[in-house]
Amino acid sequence: MQLLDGTACSQQIRKEIATEVEALITQGKRAPHLAAVLVGDDGASQNYVGMKVRDCEEVGFGSTTIRLDANTTEDELLAKIAELNAYDGIDGFIVQLPLPPQIDENKVILAIDPSKDVDGFCPENVGNLSLGLPTFISATPNGIMELLRRYKVETEGKHCVVLGRSNIVGTPMAVLMSRNTNPGNATVTIAHSRTKNLKEVCLSADILIVAIGKTEFVTADMVKPGAVVIDVGQTRVPDSSRKSGFRNVGDVDFENVKDKCSYITYVTGGVGPMTRASLLQNTLKACQRRSNS
Ligand code: NAP
Repeated sequence: MQLLDGTACSQQIRKEIATEVEALITQGKRAPHLAAVLVGDDGASQNYVGMKVRDCEEVGFGSTTIRLDANTTEDELLAKIAELNAYDGIDGFIVQLPLPPQIDENKVILAIDPSKDVDGFCPENVGNLSLGLPTFISATPNGIMELLRRYKVETEGKHCVVLGRSNIVGTPMAVLMSRNTNPGNATVTIAHSRTKNLKEVCLSADILIVAIGKTEFVTADMVKPGAVVIDVGQTRVPDSSRKSGFRNVGDVDFENVKDKCSYITYVTGGVGPMTRASLLQNTLKACQRRSNS
């Protein structure tokens, strides 16, 4: 079994990005700038945004965090998005999900200018992804593709089962794995909560990508010997032995599954750092596009 090390891989990507930022500065251009909008005080969301800001600092990007009260109305948030769309000093921005219940996430996603949608969530970018056109690919599936690419994991002709069909992970992941690219060219099955014989479906996977948000759902008896297993799941569970009071648990029973796999990711240091690296790649791309247009 080989661990797919997202931390090491993302460090390499950050180095590459920092070099590109230096080149932009040498050409007399400004550094890329990412803004993050955080609505409310959800602990996990604050943590994610904090990490994204630190990543920006590390590679030489500018960053802005916009903190809005948990009672912010939909109209107030849409007005802030219109401001960010119009402001030239920002290349890309994200609105950290989930949002409070009074705000319709879909309306928010639709309001973001596609050229600044570095999360790759808006219809134009999702459509371009499906058509194989240049786009901002949603950060988590893009990070997984990059991990497979850098570890030279063979995917062509393999049966890939993607467990979970969300708009931001499962569905774009399935599209990417089925495309005529490397990695890609896999035969893809999307499984979800209504899939029958889920255990058998998972057992048929050469590559199993799990994004359901159910702790340790995938057990050893669901994994084919030699399979590649990518665990996207990240659920906070209380843990009084930790200073933070919680720990993250993945969707895969890592301890019992790992010895059956050819490659596997762990909940910590796997997909998470790759997702953050992808956001930086998208922001750099947004900046380069804007400076070339
Ligand atoms: P989501 O929007 O809640 O979607 C979950 C998907 O899993 C749905 O398609 C659902 O099926 C399916 N599902 C739920 N229970 C199932 C079951 N028992 N059997 C089969 N399928 C089941 O979740 P998401 O946003 O894709 O996130 C999934 C997980 O990945 C979460 O733990 C999240 O925190 C994590 N995540 C991690 C990163 C990272 O960077 N590491 C990034 C994004 C997400 P239905 O469609 O039928 O309801």
